[in-house]
Amino acid sequence: MGSVTTLTPAQSPMPYKILVNRELCASNAECVSLAPEVFGLDDEELCIVLDPEGAKDKRILLAARGCPVDAITLIADHGEQVWP
Ligand code: SF4
Repeated sequence: MGSVTTLTPAQSPMPYKILVNRELCASNAECVSLAPEVFGLDDEELCIVLDPEGAKDKRILLAARGCPVDAITLIADHGEQVWP
């Protein structure tokens, strides 16, 4: 089967797919402080993804792991769930 590979300016060949469970989000902005290019808070003070390719995977993982309620799910390029 053909697969589509999108290379990004950030030179990240396999950016994570980032899912945020806004029902879980506790609005403490821990993810925002760890990866401000990637995560932000909206008008409701709930987490949103600003740019899924705004930081290296390692830092996105760090931010996801920093979430106290595991509201951030990371899916790798090949579909494997990386976190939590
Ligand atoms: S760290 Fe988790 S709880 Fe805090 S703002 Fe980010 S997603 Fe919401």
